[in-house]
Amino acid sequence: MSDFDADVLIAGGGTVGLAAAAALSAAGFKVTLIERAAAPPAFTGGEVDLRVYALSPASIRLLDALGVWPLIASARHSPYHAMQVWHDDPARALRFDAAPDQSLGSIVEHGLLNAALWAQGGDWQRLAGAEISAVSASEEEGAAVTLKQGRQLKARLLVIADGPDSPLRQQLGIDSIGWDYSQRALVAHISTQHPHGSIARQRFLSTGPLALLPLADGRCSIVWSCNTALAAELLALDASAFQLRLGSASQQVLGAVNGSTALKSFPLRLNLVPQTVVAGAVVIGDAAHVVHPLAGQGVNLGLADAEALASTLSEARAAGRGWWRARTLAAYARARRAETVEMLAITDALHRGFTQGGATMARALGLGLSALDRAEPVKQWFARRAQG
Ligand SMILES: Cc1cc2nc3c(=O)[nH]c(=O)nc-3n(C[C@H](O)[C@H](O)[C@H](O)COP(=O)(O)OP(=O)(O)OC[C@H]3O[C@@H](n4cnc5c(N)ncnc54)[C@H](O)[C@@H]3O)c2cc1C
Repeated sequence: MSDFDADVLIAGGGTVGLAAAAALSAAGFKVTLIERAAAPPAFTGGEVDLRVYALSPASIRLLDALGVWPLIASARHSPYHAMQVWHDDPARALRFDAAPDQSLGSIVEHGLLNAALWAQGGDWQRLAGAEISAVSASEEEGAAVTLKQGRQLKARLLVIADGPDSPLRQQLGIDSIGWDYSQRALVAHISTQHPHGSIARQRFLSTGPLALLPLADGRCSIVWSCNTALAAELLALDASAFQLRLGSASQQVLGAVNGSTALKSFPLRLNLVPQTVVAGAVVIGDAAHVVHPLAGQGVNLGLADAEALASTLSEARAAGRGWWRARTLAAYARARRAETVEMLAITDALHRGFTQGGATMARALGLGLSALDRAEPVKQWFARRAQG
């Protein structure tokens, strides 16, 4: 071969970059992953990570195929078999139930997920403590990255998975569109009077959605999205005042809230990269799309990017086509566009409908949710989407 260090360089070892490395390596590509964090992700089995994801069955199937799921399943996760969504009355919630003996998905900790992906058995090179400071890419020359420490690496293709701010995407002149929601997501683990019953719940308030996700230890992980002023007010409360506010915001759907960890706060925005490929490089994961967490789909979308990229490149190579060529990359981008745009549009519309449409719109949407619960075909469609 040439003077390439690998077939594919992956910039960023978050969940999506790690999954792409494992999937591309399993498809027979020589892969090097570059992550700036000094220490590889680790799982200690102690307190549950504040950042958890609702993984869809499709994501779990991918992790299983990569040999990663058994590690997670033997450590800690929380399958949920139903989902309830409501606006003003939990008794009139839209409800999805999994088929008997199945789940709608599982709640998995960010740290455990990344540690399991890092430990995956594949023969790909992992570089930790390596920050990329410059990139260049072209179809004929391939991609080159320069590390802060001065080393240069080259490959046929660069996969950019460096997260929502993606300085590398910007260096290659790849545009994105989007806006700040002027909202924060407050995250904590809480204890409640009544058991969660392995049901994921979400209330759409006119200040933003509040999700209660069931954890394996009986607590719930909350994601409470609200405008910055309300977030500041909630962050300033002491634990018992916060628990009272949360109990009222959740309409005591699980009774009183009687314990909570410290809160962590994340800014919320929407972002979309309309053209995710350029000659010699492709953008995936949050670097390509940032969605409102109300659908809990960010990681699921990114894992689907990783899977689609590995299968598109390996099909092209098996057919004797240039797997790194613009035509192949364009086929990947086409394969991912519809799902990504649909997810961004639906989550954005729901967010706006409840928070900016005024009380009447929120009430109409709330009634719509309970009406949907009685409209079987529509509900089935939503259920299929929820189940990936
Ligand atoms: C409050 C909240 C709740 C959420 N809940 C859910 C949920 O329930 N389900 C779900 O599917 N999604 C959820 N998401 C979305 C999810 O967090 C993201 O979609 C996901 O973390 C994106 O992963 P990523 O690998 O693309 O990016 P990141 O996790 O941001 O990883 C990027 C990596 O690139 C590295 N990096 C950056 N620059 C460089 C560089 N120059 N050189 C080397 N390395 C670099 C970084 O160190 C980092 O490790 C939630 C998000 C929020 C804010």
